Amino acid sequence: MSVIDEVKQRTDIVEVISQYTKLTKAGRTFRALCPFHSEKNPSFFVYPDRQSWHCFGACSTGGDVFSFVMKKEGIEFGEALRLLADRCGVTIPSRVEPDTKKELKETLYQANEAAAQYFHNLLLKSSAAEKARAYLASRGLTPKTITDFQLGYSLNSWEALKQYLLDRSYAESELLEAGLLAATEDGKTHDRWRQRLIFPIKDARGRTTGFGARVLDDSLPKYINSPQTPIFDKSATLYGLNLAAPAIRQQDSVVIVEGYMDVLTAHQNGFNNVVASMGTAITDKQVNALKRLTRNLALALDADSAGEEAMLRCVDFENTPDRIGSEIKVIILPTGKDPDDVIREDPPAWPRLIGAKAIPVIDYTFDMVTAKLDLTTARDKSLAADRLLPIIAQIKDVVRRAHYLQKLARLVKVSERNLEAALKQVKAGPAKRLPTADKDKEPRQVGVGTSRPDLSGFSSPVEEYCLVLLLQHPELRDHPDTPILLSGEYFENSENREIFTAWRETPDIIGVRERIDSAMWEHLDSLVNKNIPPTSRGQIEQKYANCVLRLREKFLRNLEKQREAILTLEAEAGGTSAELAKLQEQGIEISTELKEVFAQKAKRGQELRR
Ligand SMILES: [Zn+2]
Repeated sequence: MSVIDEVKQRTDIVEVISQYTKLTKAGRTFRALCPFHSEKNPSFFVYPDRQSWHCFGACSTGGDVFSFVMKKEGIEFGEALRLLADRCGVTIPSRVEPDTKKELKETLYQANEAAAQYFHNLLLKSSAAEKARAYLASRGLTPKTITDFQLGYSLNSWEALKQYLLDRSYAESELLEAGLLAATEDGKTHDRWRQRLIFPIKDARGRTTGFGARVLDDSLPKYINSPQTPIFDKSATLYGLNLAAPAIRQQDSVVIVEGYMDVLTAHQNGFNNVVASMGTAITDKQVNALKRLTRNLALALDADSAGEEAMLRCVDFENTPDRIGSEIKVIILPTGKDPDDVIREDPPAWPRLIGAKAIPVIDYTFDMVTAKLDLTTARDKSLAADRLLPIIAQIKDVVRRAHYLQKLARLVKVSERNLEAALKQVKAGPAKRLPTADKDKEPRQVGVGTSRPDLSGFSSPVEEYCLVLLLQHPELRDHPDTPILLSGEYFENSENREIFTAWRETPDIIGVRERIDSAMWEHLDSLVNKNIPPTSRGQIEQKYANCVLRLREKFLRNLEKQREAILTLEAEAGGTSAELAKLQEQGIEISTELKEVFAQKAKRGQELRR
């Protein structure tokens, strides 16, 4: 249970609100003079069973206990949460200071951007960069590519960049923290890179987070990257993503290569959906970053042992539940060639290669495991089963699992039934990366119709499902139903409302994260990582449209229920005719809107049956 849920569970909204205004019991509800606007007749209601409140008067708004405290105290969600947590004795995990942290990060971005610009100018203009320019020309890179990727050059100096940035009033400590400087044991600092070709690394928003630097001769190390910094996490970074994102979205596919040069050559030849992993093995953080753009991932890596290693690790990710519902594919490049070579030699060969050679990563693993074995011998048959069964056991989708069990049975010439028994043993054994055992037994993956994710951990499933869709499918921002969602207060839960508000302001998840209080990160992560069964874009859009409709319906029905309750109370208390008329009028508005919702539902039902 999250801290937010715990606070909610231990807090009684009636008790909290009665500290601010005098509540009078009326049936199953409480009413009061609205604490937010001045009025003579009480139009403020508290609903203990729903733990919510609503003002039917001038405010015409409502929410849960958090939104009440936020509004009343004029504070942010995080502060309201802490205030209520204090009251009920829940401890909130240590608070990060978002403001100072944000400021530092902003400074680091700026320092990196200034450095990138400095290196870029040197590459374009400095006579010292002659060799670097010649190198790039020999690799066939055009001036446009060099500008698009803001390539640069670092001088043969220990202090050139340092001095340049100190002159622009950056502190030495900031430059050190940005990874632009390195420190020796005695604490002296110097430029990290000398005489190197510089590749600025940008995040999805185009901010420079770090650098890769390559030598121009055969000296080692060939590459020196930025160290881990508050804004640079190599394992979460994909080189070229900022420039590739539109193409990835448009083509609904991404090709992941290994090197900077591969990305440059691909983009220069119009293959814009190409990004590079920052090391050999692709990480789940990188997969998650791409998942927001497409579910069709293909890895183009050379067939050396490092590549194989990457594949094997990749299988882990594919089958890690709640990570990715896509099927990662592998493209094996011709021996001794990397994507840069392939594209430069014959550009049209690239799309052909991707189309023809991409195979699911599990099939690739099968090939790799069995390639080194002699499957006519009993020993090697058993080895193959030992290695492949644990991988098969991790496949959640029943049909796919059966497919690979069949494949293994054919390979080792053992009956499927025997393998199935062995598979059960593997599954019963110590769970390696599997989730809880009973979740595994749930048959929900079997049915074709079970297209909704399991939201049982969430408190408002429709709200959360809607957020899962919005966060995981950025294209929904332009969906025709999104303005409807933006126009009303359909999110009743404060934490969902906060995340939705942040999402309105920023297109990417890092931005959402920065905008919300750290207490909500856990909730955000659970939404971002929620596994939705793979479906087509059309289906996603339909699900989203249904979601918006359901939220609207829920909102209107609640409103109607509340209005009726008040109407009864007013009538009993002999309310003024003006008030009664106003409530009647509200009722007409609500029922008109509800009718519209029902009409849309009926229409959608027809479309689905067609
Ligand atoms: Zn009010």
